[in-house]
Amino acid sequence: MKTVRSDKCNNVEKEDFKCPCTYTGCSRHGICCECLHYHRGKDQLPACYFTAEQEKTYNRNIDFFIECRDK
Ligand code: SF4
Repeated sequence: MKTVRSDKCNNVEKEDFKCPCTYTGCSRHGICCECLHYHRGKDQLPACYFTAEQEKTYNRNIDFFIECRDK
């Protein structure tokens, strides 16, 4: 999947924006459109779909999301 880079969706420069992702070293923090495209291309969801506890597992799979919702 082609990487999208746009200044129009760059939240990283917004003072009150807090990316919930704890995975360090990712260049997509605060660039939500790239984050979404990246994970969508892998049948995954971005960190912001998960609770803080779920997010820490780094499991971004849609199946994991559904499994968590069913509990
Ligand atoms: S959810 Fe994925 S793409 Fe988005 S900031 Fe975290 S590691 Fe990067």
